[in-house]
Amino acid sequence: MPRVYGAAVVVVTLLLTGCGGGGARSSELRVCSADTFVPNYVPQLERLLYWERFPVTVYFERDANYSDYYRQLALQGFDQWVQATGFVVRYRQVDSPDAAQIKVYFKPDTRNGLTTYTYYPSSGRLVSAKVEIGIQGGNPIDIRSVAAHEFGHALGIGGHSANVEDLMYPTFTSNVPLEITPNDLNTVKTAYCNYFLARSRVAPREGGERPVQATIRCGCPY
Ligand SMILES: [Zn+2]
Repeated sequence: MPRVYGAAVVVVTLLLTGCGGGGARSSELRVCSADTFVPNYVPQLERLLYWERFPVTVYFERDANYSDYYRQLALQGFDQWVQATGFVVRYRQVDSPDAAQIKVYFKPDTRNGLTTYTYYPSSGRLVSAKVEIGIQGGNPIDIRSVAAHEFGHALGIGGHSANVEDLMYPTFTSNVPLEITPNDLNTVKTAYCNYFLARSRVAPREGGERPVQATIRCGCPY
């Protein structure tokens, strides 16, 4: 892995290979490498994606499962990322699904979450994301944690941590609040290191490329 030190802009291409399930995929990161912010679990991920700018727009689907109470719990989960990143990660709620980059749904038939996103494979630039938050059981601690976990995927974390302490571990224990660990934070900082290092990201050259879709399933395997 080539690295450039000093004042020069660091441009490193990091290939993230697949780790089971979806087959080999790759994303291209620029500006920094997986060695820039450590510890992290970037090498374990299938892909690491990014939004071109913040705030990212969020819409909560007002279907039969929606309530303001669930929305507030979900926002508390999202805000964990806002706080942890020192307001680099920001979102803005919008009133129309058409104006939203991230659409959020509540699912009464599961405690787990699911995120589907669309992105350009050559650059890793996100186009849209759909976040499903399980509300089965109605435990506010769990709903908040699942929302934080799924928002981590929606921010671009394409895969899971192998460390049970991390927010992005694939399963959770009910009634135990999850927090963003240094591993989680450094993984997101790697995706957005242009912000954290005050450097410019190389403009994506996607040409006529079509965005692709991927789904990340989370939760207990039973
Ligand atoms: Zn997950």
